Amino acid sequence: MRWKEQLLRLTPYQPGRSIDAVKKQFNLEKIVKLASNENPFGCSTGVSTALQSNLSSLAIYPDGYATQLREKLAEFLGINEEELILGNGSDNLIQIISRSLLHPNASTIMATPSFSQYKHNAIIEGAVIKELPLINGEHNLDEMLAAIDEQTNVIWVCSPNNPTATYIPENKLIPFLDKVPPHILVVLDEAYYEYVVAEDYYDSINLTRKYENLIVLRTFSKIYGMAGLRVGYGVANRTIIKALEPAREPFNANSLGQLAAIAAINDQEFVEVCKEKNRQGLTQFYDFCEQNQLDYYPSQTNFILIDFKIDGDKVFQYLLEKGFIVRSGKALGFPTAVRVTVGSFEENVGVLQALSDFL
Ligand code: PMP
Repeated sequence: MRWKEQLLRLTPYQPGRSIDAVKKQFNLEKIVKLASNENPFGCSTGVSTALQSNLSSLAIYPDGYATQLREKLAEFLGINEEELILGNGSDNLIQIISRSLLHPNASTIMATPSFSQYKHNAIIEGAVIKELPLINGEHNLDEMLAAIDEQTNVIWVCSPNNPTATYIPENKLIPFLDKVPPHILVVLDEAYYEYVVAEDYYDSINLTRKYENLIVLRTFSKIYGMAGLRVGYGVANRTIIKALEPAREPFNANSLGQLAAIAAINDQEFVEVCKEKNRQGLTQFYDFCEQNQLDYYPSQTNFILIDFKIDGDKVFQYLLEKGFIVRSGKALGFPTAVRVTVGSFEENVGVLQALSDFL
């Protein structure tokens, strides 16, 4: 394929609108961004302290092996240091996996709608993409298994799934993993893992010991409140990690991010507080949906997908003009919905009041 045809198959990734761009466009003083599932409570104070005391080291390249963070994470997760790969966000790990394994003669399987970067990277690598529609917001694992062919080498599983916020219970995930042939890599993207409250969720780190073809991806961008610092990690057995390492840029996890992540792990109380506040915040959204008879998927994350049964762009645009940035479901595969990040109590009151006025 010539370069133009190859590149024209791609559309640039369009994340939620930035605060500055919206301020400028509508001449607004105050903007509440509930578009990219960031933590409305920021990050642990330990993170800011660690950053301030280490600003002098910026002239030095980061530790490419992230020695200290690796040690900390391994201890925290109860795994070996060689069972970890660090990323410039988990986006970067999705890239590294795609770069390592996908190519024009490979096929790759994913749910749809799901996180856009699996498909995006598969297009870049020229792989054959098999997208299996969700059923009731959940991965259709049987159909995903049925889609496996001779060329399949990566299956993407997003749990909890973005944008539906639904998860896969243990009694569905295990039989699925049992049936995936061991030469196919299963990527279990758990960006929202720390928000999960469901009791029938699985212990994914433990599963990487049982399944030699499983890699789990997590991030410091969500509950740890460090999206701007770009740190994610993958956990798998040593063989997988060793195979992926050559495709990792040498300094992909930056020095401030590494230090911040160590401080973030040290403050699990902050994580617990945010998890609880998020759980309470979700009830504000559930109550609103019930009162207004709007459909939604119960969420195991810090966001909720609400179906307004009208063009999602209209709801998005209305909220934008009121100073609330959310994501229109149109770009996410749910044309009549919007995806809203759970904010602080007051932010939730604000966005829900604006929505009540709209309805
Ligand atoms: N996976 C999922 C499911 C996500 O929602 C996101 C963030 N939107 C990511 C991965 C990427 O997160 P990051 O690169 O910030 O770690």
